[in-house]
Amino acid sequence: MSTDGADAFTYDGGRVLPGETKRFRFPVSESYLGDPVRIPVTIINGPDPGPTAFLSAASHGDELNGIEVVREVAQEWDHDEVAGTIICLPVLNVQGFTTQQRYLPIYERDLNRAFPGKQDSTSSNRIAYRIYSNFVKPADFGLDFHTSTRGRSNMFHVRADMDDDGAARLARAFGTSLIMSGEGSEGMLRTEATADGIPTITLEMGEAHRFERELIDHALEGVRSVFAEYGIYPQETVRWPGWRTVIESSGEKTWLRADAGGIVEMQFERGDLVHEGETICRITNPFKTDETVVEAPFTGLLAGVLENPVVYPGNPLCHFIKIGDEQERIVEEQSGTRHR
Ligand SMILES: [Zn+2]
Repeated sequence: MSTDGADAFTYDGGRVLPGETKRFRFPVSESYLGDPVRIPVTIINGPDPGPTAFLSAASHGDELNGIEVVREVAQEWDHDEVAGTIICLPVLNVQGFTTQQRYLPIYERDLNRAFPGKQDSTSSNRIAYRIYSNFVKPADFGLDFHTSTRGRSNMFHVRADMDDDGAARLARAFGTSLIMSGEGSEGMLRTEATADGIPTITLEMGEAHRFERELIDHALEGVRSVFAEYGIYPQETVRWPGWRTVIESSGEKTWLRADAGGIVEMQFERGDLVHEGETICRITNPFKTDETVVEAPFTGLLAGVLENPVVYPGNPLCHFIKIGDEQERIVEEQSGTRHR
């Protein structure tokens, strides 16, 4: 097939030759009417040989920021000098996307707990299998884009198993300041792919139901940096975010939870540094006659915050993490200019 050492990329029903880009809709399931449920796919097989990367988004159907990241890489970037193959999967959970729901509508299944999937099993397992066997298995590494669950917002960060050398290399290359290390859960795309020898990281960025342009641009820089690291874009350079903290799964971090039901007045935004003893938020009753003050238990960073300002007792208010003294100093210096 190839004249220059690069190989054709093949999937169930087609192939993409070196130097060729293909856009198509790929069937992963069927509707009650028997119509195909198809995911949009763009495969860019570069003119030069190199690694194969997959980029995926919206395995949770209402998490939109990543969709735009993957679409811009697929449709707006120049592919004339790509060395390798880029598999772009902007909407994995088509049924969830169509109804703007996190889960697959069938029994509210989480597609991101169904990987690598199974051919003769449940509906979600079959969908996962079609995606995984065709577009994840042939890749050398992958980036899976997510946002916070609706009603909350995440600071831009990477989640990766930093004990896996391949995932750690990928996480660092993406160039975020914050990396949360951990294996993840059974059935998660990044967990299962990494265990299968395809290092994969999750990018957490912002809120569900939104396009947040600043975060999308930041993520596109990250993709460019990863492509530089792996030689897909050999002319680019790997970026350094200015500071970096890797939070181990045993590290000091906590979900601060509400001890009272009420209306939340948040005093900070995602990505803010809060000093020990400062008020993060107040929970008030409808008359503002009663308030519960939530203070920072240590000096740390708000990695995730509540956006929908109402809570029951026990609901999460914010994801609060401890960073090092040196990182604290840089965060304070960069306040106002950094990516949240
Ligand atoms: Zn998600």
